[in-house]
Amino acid sequence: MIKVENLYKQFGDNEVLKNISTSIESGEVVSIIGPSGSGKSTFLRCLNLLEEPTKGKVWINNQDITDRKTDISKVRQEIGMVFQHFYLFPHMTVLQNLTYAPMRVKGESRETAEKKGRELLAKVGLSEKESAYPNNLSGGQKQRVAIARALAMEPKLMLFDEPTSALDPEMVKEVLNVIKDLAHTGITMAIVTHEMGFAREVSDRIMFLDEGKLLEEGSPEEFFKNPKTTRAKDFLEKVL
Ligand code: ADP
Ligand code: MG
Repeated sequence: MIKVENLYKQFGDNEVLKNISTSIESGEVVSIIGPSGSGKSTFLRCLNLLEEPTKGKVWINNQDITDRKTDISKVRQEIGMVFQHFYLFPHMTVLQNLTYAPMRVKGESRETAEKKGRELLAKVGLSEKESAYPNNLSGGQKQRVAIARALAMEPKLMLFDEPTSALDPEMVKEVLNVIKDLAHTGITMAIVTHEMGFAREVSDRIMFLDEGKLLEEGSPEEFFKNPKTTRAKDFLEKVL
């Protein structure tokens, strides 16, 4: 599903990603963890070209997205992204947030888009909110709408960048539970998170980034029980 080869990203003379190579299989759930500023968001954003790599290649579904000839907007239709801050359309109802892109970008009829939108709202436990506006929702509800909105495009790949970091503690679980349910559906996911218990439970693989390098990757058991590098040990000691 994703292949990354010798990826570098530089902002000015700040080298933020240093020679990252990895791949993610279809259906795999990968959590990306590491200290603040280690390049996690930048890495995730390179996977849908929200950031343009300085060097290296990224393939999504066998399409080289770093090749200028690739139609990136087409590839992006298959990638859902959920951010720390939800970026819902504030002037649209919850249901309109979900139907907008499927109608606009995919040409779905209103009827189809609304039917699917309602199914997704049921999935994230927000059926009763379809006519509400984002400003009248809690943080956890907003984030669940953002996830449903991304899913409305029927992506093959979902990217999450700290989806619970902006939430009050009591709302973290409701969002993590929605993501956990998704993990069992066979969709491919890459999740940047500081929720170690969640990462351990839900991931097929952990990637540990430190100072722009992919220092370790392995199964959650391997990584959490027996981290190979001192950097990872130190990190885990601080967060666990
Ligand atoms: P993380 O998500 O792990 O906290 P980021 O990927 O956000 O790390 O940032 C890694 C480094 O890249 C930081 O030093 C940050 O200041 C820098 N950085 C990120 N985005 C930009 C940008 N758009 N312009 C300049 N520097 C950036
Ligand atoms: Mg980040």
